[in-house]
Amino acid sequence: MEPAGAPPPGCAPAREAEEPPGSPALPAEEPQGGQPAGAPPGEGAPPPSAAAERDRDRHAAGPQGPSGRAARGRGRRAPGRRGGDEGARAARRPRVTVDSSKAKTSLEALKISLRQLRWREFPFGRRLPCDIYWHGVSFHDNDIFSGQVNKFPGMTEMVRKITLSRAVRTMQDLFPLEYNFYPRSWILPEEFPLFVAEVRMMKDSDPSWKPTFIVKPDGGCQGDGIYLIKDPSDIRLTGSIQSRPAVVQEYICKPLLVDKLKFDIRLYVLLKSLEPLEIYIAKDGLSRFCTEPYQEPTLKNLHQVFMHLTNYSLNIHSGNFIHSDSVNTGSKRTFSSILCRLSSRGADVKKLWSDIISLVIKTIIALTPELKVYYQSDIPAGKPGPTCFQILGFDILLMKNLKPMLLEVNANPSMRIEHEQELSPGVFENVPSPVDEEVKVAVIRDTLRLVDPHKKKRKDIQCQTLEQVSEASEELLDAGRADRLEYEASRSPEAGLPSLCLKQVFPKYAKQFNYLRLVDRVAALFIRFLGVKGTTKLGPTGFRTFIRNCKLSNSNFSMASVDILYIDITRRWNSMGIDHKESGMCLQAFVEAFFCLAQKKYKSLPLHEQVASLIDFCEYHLAALDEKRLVCGRGVVERRSAVVPCQTDGLHLTPAAHAPLLNRTATASKFADYRNHRY
Ligand code: ADP
Repeated sequence: MEPAGAPPPGCAPAREAEEPPGSPALPAEEPQGGQPAGAPPGEGAPPPSAAAERDRDRHAAGPQGPSGRAARGRGRRAPGRRGGDEGARAARRPRVTVDSSKAKTSLEALKISLRQLRWREFPFGRRLPCDIYWHGVSFHDNDIFSGQVNKFPGMTEMVRKITLSRAVRTMQDLFPLEYNFYPRSWILPEEFPLFVAEVRMMKDSDPSWKPTFIVKPDGGCQGDGIYLIKDPSDIRLTGSIQSRPAVVQEYICKPLLVDKLKFDIRLYVLLKSLEPLEIYIAKDGLSRFCTEPYQEPTLKNLHQVFMHLTNYSLNIHSGNFIHSDSVNTGSKRTFSSILCRLSSRGADVKKLWSDIISLVIKTIIALTPELKVYYQSDIPAGKPGPTCFQILGFDILLMKNLKPMLLEVNANPSMRIEHEQELSPGVFENVPSPVDEEVKVAVIRDTLRLVDPHKKKRKDIQCQTLEQVSEASEELLDAGRADRLEYEASRSPEAGLPSLCLKQVFPKYAKQFNYLRLVDRVAALFIRFLGVKGTTKLGPTGFRTFIRNCKLSNSNFSMASVDILYIDITRRWNSMGIDHKESGMCLQAFVEAFFCLAQKKYKSLPLHEQVASLIDFCEYHLAALDEKRLVCGRGVVERRSAVVPCQTDGLHLTPAAHAPLLNRTATASKFADYRNHRY
């Protein structure tokens, strides 16, 4: 199932963000206006950088621009006093404050974005709290207790090669077809024997299968330490297995080529909120090209990185690398220019875009359970803390048949808008990169627009005004008032900006993907029993309480067996050397234990149905327990005790306590619906 009417970026002329679903979307639009008319003068803004000036010139005075609108507005009303009042009011309007002191390499693009938004930048930090903190590396770059920060706790850990592979693997176990966009992977060193055995088995069953594998060290980036092998017995692999944890992955041998070159796509995705889940995708991204014509891997060409690896950081060192001022030529181009090309060859780019949206949503669904564990640990509910959002870089490879495959997710995608140019051998200079600037500035600026803390306040005021208007008598709706509303709108800081380059895909397509969010519900159970705030691991008592409260132990599954299950699984996960800071059961270990229990209890069903049934069962018992506690807490014990005994454990369900079961059954049948509509 595809997201209905997903919007492909294409080669159509610029459209508004609210275009009807299914209509071809666009390459990041050119801004349509210049400086907002009557914008607050100066306010101590530093002098514009060369890039900002360039940007401003480029964006100046489109037909719909703010200057045009303001001019229209001024034409209808007498200039002078009112304009002056408005100017003064605008100057008094508090501006969003942004601490950019930790922005690192995203600083240039951030500065341009802030200038376009006319927000206030604090490049050296601020003693008072800021509205937004822009970090270059991680959530922990600053100690923050309020506002918003552009990183989630735990994201860097979550998208490391091994952790991502594990998270996707869990989803592949549950939903193999839905998660076939990630190449088959093995985690080294612990899965080396499995890797050898599976490859041997597959070769035995299909002797014509001549696979290639790509070995990627965990925590590596920019192609660092990556190599290709043809066989698990390759000496480079066997020699480094113990010293360097890595992911070994099936190599995609038949990628889509453009100009005979392999390329990949960097797409920018905004995770705006974890709870409720909100995801946006940038309408345009970058395509990074290899610099040697592609040939399918052979023992002879396996080492040619310029042929097989698309990393910019590698290919920039090739003599064939082409820097380009244009977005549709050279070794780095916009993704929309590729789509344009594919569309002109007759490819179904709408389907491709829809597949990409599915891939992104499903990947984030795989990441959210553990992110929630990190989140509650760093920002416990009820304690002061910032809210988070994050721009992620998705690296996607298109197969020859146009199927998008996920390569990796970057928690800190490069937001640099300049590139190095070699002036003479060994002498490099940073020069502006128009392709990077076009895509990245729009992504940062529009992320800021989406998280704008003042927007909500403005919206509330507008709603109030509209309510007042509708309640007022007809006479009040005179031209003057309508004029004034339009004038206010034209003066909003957003008036001069292009439509958003970020499209919401979740919750927009939630109905099609919610059935996949089973591990999220398992994580909610895990978090409930973590007990002590600030931890990420479950102790043996917490696990026992989970079993007892969910009524999972019985004569066939004693509490002694529960302890053995806990010890076995926890010990194995902890021996994998993931996180020794805390002892106890991590989420993945809990998920494994949960799957085990589900398989035990619901023997003949497919795994996802076993897990869904067990979640329903646990949630039902916990809801009954909560209800009982609530009733006890209200002091109506006597009245209800005839129906529901008020002990924490050993709850015996009676007809009254079964009432919520009806709701759960409804939920379960909804799940069945989702399941029936899978691909
Ligand atoms: P890094 O973080 O070091 O860039 P990636 O996982 O992105 O690591 O891999 C680097 C490059 O290797 C990718 O940009 C892509 O060109 C190539 N690559 C990675 N995985 C595969 C694969 N499974 N099949 C084909 N090419 C791949």
